[in-house]
Amino acid sequence: MAITLVIHGGAGNITPAMMTKQQEEQYNDGLKAALDNGYAVLKGGGKAVDAVIASIVTLENNPIFNAGRGSVFTKKGLNEMDAAIMDGSNLAAGAVAGVRNVKNPIVLAKEIMLHSGHVFLSGSGAAEFALKQGIEMAPDEYFFNKSRYDQWVEIRDSDFYQLDHKEDNLKGPLPNTDHKFGTVGAVACDEQGNIAGGTSTGGMTNKRFGRIGDSPIIGAGTYANNATCAISCTGHGEYFLRAVVAHDVSCLMEYKGLTLQQACDTVIKDKLVKMGGEGGLIAVDAKGNYDFCFNSAGMYRGMRNSEGKELIAYYGA
Ligand code: ASP
Repeated sequence: MAITLVIHGGAGNITPAMMTKQQEEQYNDGLKAALDNGYAVLKGGGKAVDAVIASIVTLENNPIFNAGRGSVFTKKGLNEMDAAIMDGSNLAAGAVAGVRNVKNPIVLAKEIMLHSGHVFLSGSGAAEFALKQGIEMAPDEYFFNKSRYDQWVEIRDSDFYQLDHKEDNLKGPLPNTDHKFGTVGAVACDEQGNIAGGTSTGGMTNKRFGRIGDSPIIGAGTYANNATCAISCTGHGEYFLRAVVAHDVSCLMEYKGLTLQQACDTVIKDKLVKMGGEGGLIAVDAKGNYDFCFNSAGMYRGMRNSEGKELIAYYGA
């Protein structure tokens, strides 16, 4: 059975004009390390779920991505993180929202899936569960990132919120966005033909009121089902939530018989565009077919499979 791993590091207004050579190298190295670590699990006969976790942990530990260590700051100057994992072989899922000081939220999501008896924990209760399970914590300093801090300082006295990074577009009515997204995700198909998907994010700069996006919501930002596909989304979460993107792709395959690519195109390039929602997703099915699909200028992305295919790319085709 073909093994396949696909990852993303966010979608948005990613163009050659906005990237320096040095940034391109940093993203290349970050994505490659995540592919290496996830693929090693698959190659060793490991499970899709564990490959997804290995890739996402690598991305969470890299401050250039808006997840784990590189998470953006909330209105109160905190880092509040969301993550979810789903196992397509048994439809088990675990998700966490609004947690602080958890080094790898995706590991906590997996722990919730396996040992909490629940699917979705949030805030202080999730922190209590993390403590009980001995999940690795990190101090506030670990999450401090100068560029993300500066980006927050610029808008903290306003009602603006921003989907990662800064630069253009600090104007206009809410919701404000500069059309760049930094969430991370992975989907995998293992030797047994089982698939899994996961997503992790710091959400949006200057977010308020315990705002939660699509990433940790099973069926919106994350979904996996061996019968159809495994999906991880990135983009303007409010739209992905309302379009229930990940599950919609799965439904189009299950009920309408669309292929993976047709289903992804229908949701991302048609439905979501009509709603005004920007972003993309990565997808894999149980035969090892894969897709990158986005309606934004670019998406940080990578894939590797047992047919010798490998790709790391940022920009649109
Ligand atoms: N979808 C994420 C959210 O809305 C953001 C992102 O993908 O960068 O929280």
